[in-house]
Amino acid sequence: MKNQPAPGMKDLISEASIYRRLEDDFFKILKLESFKEIRTPILESKNLFSRSVGDASDIVEKEMFETKTDDLVLRPENTAAIVRAVLNDYKVPAKFGYFAPQFRKERPQLGRLRQFYQYGFEMFGDTAPQSEIESLLLISKLYKKWGLSNYEIQVNYLGSGDERSEYLNKLTKYFTDNKDKLSDNSKKRLEKNVLRILDSKEKEDQDLISSAPLILDSLSESSLKLWNQFLEIAKAVNLKLVINPRLVRGLDYYTGMVFEVVDTSGKLGSQKALGGGGRYDNLCKELGGMETPAFGFAGGVERLIIALDLKDESVVLNKFGLMTTELEVLETFVKIKEKNSDIYVDILFNTNLGFKKMFKRADKNNLDYVLIVGKDELLSNSFKVKNLKTGEEKEYTGLSDNLLLKNYK
Ligand code: AMP
Repeated sequence: MKNQPAPGMKDLISEASIYRRLEDDFFKILKLESFKEIRTPILESKNLFSRSVGDASDIVEKEMFETKTDDLVLRPENTAAIVRAVLNDYKVPAKFGYFAPQFRKERPQLGRLRQFYQYGFEMFGDTAPQSEIESLLLISKLYKKWGLSNYEIQVNYLGSGDERSEYLNKLTKYFTDNKDKLSDNSKKRLEKNVLRILDSKEKEDQDLISSAPLILDSLSESSLKLWNQFLEIAKAVNLKLVINPRLVRGLDYYTGMVFEVVDTSGKLGSQKALGGGGRYDNLCKELGGMETPAFGFAGGVERLIIALDLKDESVVLNKFGLMTTELEVLETFVKIKEKNSDIYVDILFNTNLGFKKMFKRADKNNLDYVLIVGKDELLSNSFKVKNLKTGEEKEYTGLSDNLLLKNYK
């Protein structure tokens, strides 16, 4: 049997053209909004994610690929590393974008891989609701560019500090009182991270979840004011949002507004989240820096490709061959190729094997035309052009380095 990539990983051959185009579009749009590209290492210390994503998160608890000896992991997400990088080279405000592979040891299925790509961005230095609005407008712009229309943006507000701990107490009491009705998984979550019960997809948890206390009811007046202000501005700039009071997201570092972009086309089965993000004002401090307001988003490339039904986008160029057996002609051919760098020009040169072999190779390379100079043509200062698709052949005189593509492009 042929060697296959590891489960949940893919070789990208014809699909690579789609990734290339999406990445180019992504950075073109981000550049217009003053973002810089950032690339961080693929291997990171495990500690970085325990301190940011959180020990009780699925990601840290069971989804990281770890080295045996030195506590390194393949990065499962990019936010923590970007915060680390920004703290080391500290200039705020700053906005960074990335398009990069991430790794999680999940059970592979449609829209869920072990190596997947994310397009994402992080913004440092602006408080709410500046980055919230800016991000959602940017995401809408990206999706418009990509022709994605079947999605909704769900939002929630996780509050800050005291409100969150008050809410966690209420939630813990509520689920503890109803512990015997919880699924086994959620019983464990109750010990480790009660908020994650709200993320549960288990059937038996759903009734309890739907009557659980809501964070929005635990917000202080000042938080409620911020939340309402955000919703008002979003409405004024025509952002259509769906409030989902049970949206918590699985990562520990969020505070304030969180959101998820959800596919509504049905093409993604149960993996409907196209992307998500939110505010994380405490993370910079937790990772050893100054307190810095921050906000980020990450979307999954593979899910976007499924939602958009994208297929191989390799551009088919006119493919032109220059074919000769004569050494004297080669210099002219090289010049022609250099001058026409925007088109695929293949030089076929073989003094030993002759034209028959070269035609075979031209066929294999799927060339459209070949320009032929043999001994006779060289002596009479002429050349032939053969259309390999139709077999039609024409003869011209006066080979010069700019003749070729003027006529046949
Ligand atoms: P997260 O970092 O978990 O908030 O994920 C952000 C987005 O990345 C999700 O909404 C998905 O679109 C995508 N994503 C996360 N995990 C995977 C995975 N295992 N395979 C493919 N895409 C993923």
